[in-house]
Amino acid sequence: MQPVEIDTFFATLKAANPHPETELAFTNVFELLAAVLLSAQATDVSVNKATRTLFAHAPTPQAMWRLGVEGIEAHIRTIGLYRTKARNLHTTCGLLLEQHGGQVPRTREALEALPGVGRKTANVVLNVAFGQPTMAVDTHIFRVSNRTGLAPGRDVRAVEDALLARIPPTYRVDAHHWLILHGRYVCQARRPQCGACAVMNVCRWPHRATIAAGGPMPAA
Ligand code: SF4
Repeated sequence: MQPVEIDTFFATLKAANPHPETELAFTNVFELLAAVLLSAQATDVSVNKATRTLFAHAPTPQAMWRLGVEGIEAHIRTIGLYRTKARNLHTTCGLLLEQHGGQVPRTREALEALPGVGRKTANVVLNVAFGQPTMAVDTHIFRVSNRTGLAPGRDVRAVEDALLARIPPTYRVDAHHWLILHGRYVCQARRPQCGACAVMNVCRWPHRATIAAGGPMPAA
């Protein structure tokens, strides 16, 4: 995709949704960190269902720490890997209290030092909570970036770097959400909605016209 097409791509997504937001439910930065930590290999819907009661009991690191690992587990059993996630979340709360005055740190280094917090989680927190132009590449962003020709890459880090290098500064803070929402609801893995896609004119996927006409998906 050429720079002028990338500009059109994001201008189009912005026109349709000027203020995109995460679909994870949270009311403070700590809850955001906890929700993202719990969302690995789980849908936002399933995380929101679990955190509705978890955050009602423990909206702060202090309260979550007091809840204990078993107390956390009781609220998040419906999420995959819940035992590991409960342990990581509890240890993270201990470290927030011990090393960060009960606050969520604002640097990548400090975030990634917390158990269960990898580069993707840190990117989401830095972007959503602190407005930094980071790019948390999940399965949707990886697919959309490669399929459309926006920022092709063999792995998530290559795609992250390509996106940050290619997306115009004016779109960088919100690009992460536009791409996730586009991948989740339009450019879906098994059945992309090319016929209803607002950015079809700049997309480089060779099969888009076939799919738009109701044709079959190409073999993987
Ligand atoms: S035209 Fe199809 S492949 Fe291209 S971005 Fe839209 S939905 Fe995805």
